[in-house]
Amino acid sequence: MPVSTTDYVLQELEDWKNLGVDGHFHAKNPWMTYHELLADQMAEVVGALPSEVVVMNSLTVNLHLLMVSFYRPTNKRHKILFDYSPFPSDRYAIASQVKFHGFEPEESMIELKPDGDGEIVSIENMQKILEEQGDQIAMILIGGVNYYTGQAYDIKKITAMGHAKGCIVGFDLAHAAGNLQLQLHDDGPDFAAWCTYKYLNSGPGSLSGCFIHERHHGNSDLPRFAGWWGHDKKTRFLMGDEFKPIDTAEGWQLSNPPVLSMAAIKASLDIFAEAGMLNLRTKSTLLTAYLEYLIHQENDTNIGIITPSDPTQRGCQLSIQMKNPDKKLFHYLTEQGVIADWREPDVIRVAPTPLYNSFEDIWLFSKILHAGLDTLL
Ligand SMILES: *Cc1c(COP(=O)(O)O)cnc(C)c1O
Repeated sequence: MPVSTTDYVLQELEDWKNLGVDGHFHAKNPWMTYHELLADQMAEVVGALPSEVVVMNSLTVNLHLLMVSFYRPTNKRHKILFDYSPFPSDRYAIASQVKFHGFEPEESMIELKPDGDGEIVSIENMQKILEEQGDQIAMILIGGVNYYTGQAYDIKKITAMGHAKGCIVGFDLAHAAGNLQLQLHDDGPDFAAWCTYKYLNSGPGSLSGCFIHERHHGNSDLPRFAGWWGHDKKTRFLMGDEFKPIDTAEGWQLSNPPVLSMAAIKASLDIFAEAGMLNLRTKSTLLTAYLEYLIHQENDTNIGIITPSDPTQRGCQLSIQMKNPDKKLFHYLTEQGVIADWREPDVIRVAPTPLYNSFEDIWLFSKILHAGLDTLL
């Protein structure tokens, strides 16, 4: 938790205690417009225009709302191309959207597969699928960084390839936002969503970020699930019968958002703004390269790294694959005070992040890892 988070949240509790409902207009940071405070900095983190970004709901909810607008299957074009071994929630969300539209997941879902023996999906592989089935693919929805392998996908290339075949292209940036230096506006995907409780340090269950490219703004033909918070701000409180969406990403909002969660997001975004994504990414690249170097130096045959060694094809995470899957080593790391992450069936994810990990941390980790390997395996 950022040290400053407590003060940011206490400020809103204090205003609530003293002002009650009037905090909507008279709080230090008026709650009515609190989410607007986040747009500029969040846009900076993902390389978007402020009008293209909104903070609302949670990630899976936003994936659904975005698919309501952007997954419009027809009998000819109903398939979704999605990530290799995706985070389960994405698979469930995609399958349920396919079924909701009356199609069969077995026929409409195409999961990316790694080339050859490794765990990495090549751009040529995606291109081949698009060549063969592109005119049946309604939407591509993949991760910015695959949560299991740590592979970072080329958002610009995939977007261009998808658009050339007439597909809508969206990204789940749960493991990319606050990790990679993104350029969503220029790279041009149609939509994206991410959570703020991973690299963005905004607390458990905190709100999600959402990107809708400018080219879709002001298009009232796009179907959407509507709510009053997406209604034109000038007339929202006239409580009229007809829904008139805000032209920008804010037009996808449903409800007035939770201020306490947004306060934690604001605390974190202020730190990201002060540090700057380019600086963070520069340090991150060095930290991960150092980690990779120290792991390889021991040349231990019990483990291998499945994440690409090319720094442009990964974020900070390295996925260490166990040759003989066994959680003993992971438990040992945890006992020694290392917060890593076990991913079934065989991967230990290690993600040194530039805001709070040092080169010394990496060195200590390597010593612990190799002591574990020597004593346990
Ligand atoms: C963390 C994560 C989620 C979690 O979704 P919530 O709706 O926030 O619980 C979904 N997808 C991916 C790729 C994730 O990494």
